[in-house]
Amino acid sequence: MNPLTHMRCAALRFRGVLTLAAFLLAACGSANEQPTTTAAGDPRPEREKPLVVCTTGMVGDLVRSVAGDHAEIVVLMAPGTDPHLWTPTRTDVLRILEADAVFMNGLLLEGRAGDAFARVETSGRPVVRLAESLDRRELLTDPANPSHFDPHVWMDPVLWAKTAPAVAVALTKASPDHAKDFDAGAARIAAEADSLDREIKIELAPIAVGQRVLVSAHDAFGYFGRRYDLEVRGVQGISTESEPSLAAIEALVAEMCEKSIPTIFGETTVSNRSLQAIVDGCAARGHDVRMGEFLYSDSLGAASTAGATWVGMLRHNAQSIAAGLGGRR
Ligand SMILES: [Zn+2]
Repeated sequence: MNPLTHMRCAALRFRGVLTLAAFLLAACGSANEQPTTTAAGDPRPEREKPLVVCTTGMVGDLVRSVAGDHAEIVVLMAPGTDPHLWTPTRTDVLRILEADAVFMNGLLLEGRAGDAFARVETSGRPVVRLAESLDRRELLTDPANPSHFDPHVWMDPVLWAKTAPAVAVALTKASPDHAKDFDAGAARIAAEADSLDREIKIELAPIAVGQRVLVSAHDAFGYFGRRYDLEVRGVQGISTESEPSLAAIEALVAEMCEKSIPTIFGETTVSNRSLQAIVDGCAARGHDVRMGEFLYSDSLGAASTAGATWVGMLRHNAQSIAAGLGGRR
């Protein structure tokens, strides 16, 4: 390509990215953050490793396990962020625009950011929705909205591990020299998930049949409950965008009293106000309910906490549920 043509192509590409950036920056939620990437030329500079942007901590943990040292990984949501309510900031949008690959959960988990990613995708950037790479027959539907799938697939370790091959495929496109390492990473995750699955089954096995009801702040544990034979009740629905109704709270109080469920669980990413109403409602009927340890539902914990990794998150949840429902021997 002669130098003039090359300059024209570069200028056109840069202008296209800027146009997309302008649209996304206008559309995104936080108005006060200033862009941190202000490259004078192409906002996607040459790099030694591909830049990979992930939405949730669980997605980031999985992608990091597959990628090893072969990618620079940025996770957009900080620990404790509720993905149902998350909107990308200007800085997030610029990171997305710089990325060589973007990984998200999908199935509307990042419901308020879907538009931004769809726009990025139409510009030619790869956007991989991990949960949507799964066989639809393995997915649960949202009871309140049967046309939607339940997005909380990371709660079933074996199911979540099945998304790892899609990560390996996308990373291989970004960095073909490391294809074997990415495949080996995906296989390692499958083995790790099998081991974790066995551990959780052992942890939860002693919970009595009549006590296998997990009541938590929102419906994040459907896949966990299906895998480990627990009935799951969320005070809020699949998304945290809706407020619980009085009728729903009263129905939960009645069920907890009837089945003598001893414990209710808060979550680290969700308002737990309504849980106290259930505890109080049960007390008024003469049934004492205690608050169990907080569960990690839609976000990993901060560094150095038990939930800082995906494996740690599920292990902590299983141990807390077992302790709360009488499973620990
Ligand atoms: Zn959720």
